[in-house]
Amino acid sequence: MRITDLRLALVFVPFPGPVYPAWRAGGVQEGTQATVLEIDTDAGITGVGTTFAHGRREMIETVEHMVRPYLIGKDPFAVERHIHLLRTAGMFGARPWLVEVALWDIIGKAAGLPLYRLWGGYTDRVKAYASTAEVRPPARRADDVRRYRDDGFRAVKLRLHHDDPQDDLRVVEAAVAAGGGEVEIMADANQGTILPYHTMGPRWSYETARFMARELGQMGVVWLEEPLPRFDFDSIARLSAEVDIPIAGGEANAGLHEFRWLIERRCYDILQPDATLSEGLFQLRKIAGLAEAHGLRFVPHTWADGIGMAANLQLAASVPNCGYLEFPYDPPHFTMGAFQALLVEPIRVEADGCVRVPEAPGLGVELNREAVERFRVG
Ligand SMILES: [Mg+2]
Repeated sequence: MRITDLRLALVFVPFPGPVYPAWRAGGVQEGTQATVLEIDTDAGITGVGTTFAHGRREMIETVEHMVRPYLIGKDPFAVERHIHLLRTAGMFGARPWLVEVALWDIIGKAAGLPLYRLWGGYTDRVKAYASTAEVRPPARRADDVRRYRDDGFRAVKLRLHHDDPQDDLRVVEAAVAAGGGEVEIMADANQGTILPYHTMGPRWSYETARFMARELGQMGVVWLEEPLPRFDFDSIARLSAEVDIPIAGGEANAGLHEFRWLIERRCYDILQPDATLSEGLFQLRKIAGLAEAHGLRFVPHTWADGIGMAANLQLAASVPNCGYLEFPYDPPHFTMGAFQALLVEPIRVEADGCVRVPEAPGLGVELNREAVERFRVG
């Protein structure tokens, strides 16, 4: 089998109203944006991969100029050979991991198997956690948690971004109480990366991180995510050693080498790379294996779009040390309809709080080409 073409599109799917993401202080997000790649082969099989776009064309330029000329005519199965080119392309342009995702979609389709089964098929169901985007007052978050529970969710992740961390604790306290022991609560401080908008947002000191970790641990919060900057390995490792609550992170780290440092230095209890951001889909299986060997968990980050979430779901279901799927969803404006608009068949949470891993070959999902054309902006 040979690769015959790479086709790219930039899409913007509007939300029904503005979303104010916690990680961009003072910022507004009007919709979800993605770069969509389709790779064609002479066998008539087409693979799809997507990644973040933020309304810009860097990924399209990177793939067109640095990846496309090399990949045309190549064997799509030789991923371990192509990964070197992708790493180099990511050094000069955007990190083109969507290419590796699309190659695996081709391989899965050629094999007639969903990737999770091709890779060992650990489980066909994964517990979803609703991953919120906004900071909201305690009473509203309590209502949200009850609604999530009615929607089937048994786990919800909250954002900690108040100027006064005590206000964050009040939100978590209200959410835990509203869950009534039926809904697990996670907390994300998003301190790993600074995404400045009008302001930088709250920045935590080591002492704040430790105080919050202890308080959240007392409330039974499942994990505290990104309490410190992503390269402050010494402080993250020290925090993990000093507190009982599991510390999670890694969504903004990249490359096998960074995850090796994070794992060997015991920074995080839970590693959270993203198959569209951190390193290729199969490359992340190596990180999952290294984490497993160190007794650590591996729970991918999934904020690209529906296709990106589907890719991370196949990965999550293939390894024994995962257990959760991050499910971005924060109604009324951050909707499943917008986030998963590129899927013909959306991924749904069932009554027991789990998602069923799609069984179709490859990523298990079909790209909605009509939606790609309707929302295409470049
Ligand atoms: Mg996060």
